[in-house]
Amino acid sequence: MKELEEKILSEGVAIGTEVVKVDMFLNHMLDVGFLQRVGEEFRKRFAGEKVDKILTVEASGIAVACMASPCFDYAPVVFAKKAKPNTMTEGFHSAEAISFTKGTVSCFVVSEKLLKPGERILILDDFLAHGQASLALTELIAKAGATVVGIGAVIEKQFQGGAQRLKERGYRVESLAVIKKIEDGNITFA
Ligand code: 5GP
Repeated sequence: MKELEEKILSEGVAIGTEVVKVDMFLNHMLDVGFLQRVGEEFRKRFAGEKVDKILTVEASGIAVACMASPCFDYAPVVFAKKAKPNTMTEGFHSAEAISFTKGTVSCFVVSEKLLKPGERILILDDFLAHGQASLALTELIAKAGATVVGIGAVIEKQFQGGAQRLKERGYRVESLAVIKKIEDGNITFA
């Protein structure tokens, strides 16, 4: 997505060789008009696919998923929580994911009531790096007996191998911008 690449270059900040900060439009302030076009692009990429629900993870995936939902007939957005809240007293599915940005292990949880057997679930997130978050989401979907339609990422960092890992497991991955390299503050797209 050309507009996304231009935005990453003009508003994003490369931190070292591994991390991109996009607080100006995706992670701290939200460019709503732009995110609407991101949602439309995901619809194009997954054209013809029946999507019952969109699954993401709190917090930064929620905006992306909500902006895409109208393009998927207002498919409900479910977001995995990164820790089980005390209010989740009934059945839930859980899966572990190592957080790349924080260097911690999170336990993603989702109520059993929210993902049903046979449902077709599209995973959307802001970044796809090592693939840990998306893998944990696929695990939650499998535990619910639902089906993964595919995985959509706004920004993929190709050099961290997550997309490759997911594709090897047979999942369809669609990334709207694919970063090949971050070097000396410069971002190169694939
Ligand atoms: P993964 O699990 O694929 O390694 O990392 C994906 C998750 O880590 C995303 O949900 C995202 O929130 C966070 N993340 C990974 N890399 C970056 C990055 O370069 N910048 C930002 N802002 N978040 C990232």
